[in-house]
Amino acid sequence: MINFKNVKTGEIKTASSLREEGDKIYIRFSLDGKEYGYNKNNIEVIDSDATELPFRVYTYAKDCYRCHKQTEILTYITYVDIPTDDVLFPCDYDRLNKHQNIFAHMQDPSIEYYGINVIGDIEEFDYMLMEKYPDRIKNCYSKTKNKIYPMNACCHCGTGQGWYFVYRDINEIIKNGAKLELYSCNSKMKV
Ligand SMILES: [Zn+2]
Repeated sequence: MINFKNVKTGEIKTASSLREEGDKIYIRFSLDGKEYGYNKNNIEVIDSDATELPFRVYTYAKDCYRCHKQTEILTYITYVDIPTDDVLFPCDYDRLNKHQNIFAHMQDPSIEYYGINVIGDIEEFDYMLMEKYPDRIKNCYSKTKNKIYPMNACCHCGTGQGWYFVYRDINEIIKNGAKLELYSCNSKMKV
């Protein structure tokens, strides 16, 4: 499987096969599916290994809200205006504030509600994370969202650490000017 980005829309998709001919790239989404032609300039091949992720994976230690022991959280952190753009450190605070969820911040001024996506925000990314780290990321039920979605499972008790906890933590880390660590050298490095 090959991951590629449609540069025009920012969408990331997975192709079954991909071939170049002249100024076109022909993509098949399934083994014997129809072939679609794209202008070569609009396609950016991200990797040719389905286990690589098209975003950076950050990690931090967190106390599990149920058993209170320390576990490790994995998440992507991307900008809401372009969800495929990783938030890099030091952060671009102008951009984070420009897309701040002001309404949520007014209701709950305890965090900034920066314009970021974390695990639980982008379904496609969540499933990619779960596929890559099945022992760490599991489908769990969330009362807050009233649905089942991939979450970091506590390494002690297995409880899913839901979106809200991670979103809160990342907001606090960013506000404090702290830097998050990259989890894996296998995740795609972008400079
Ligand atoms: Zn726990």
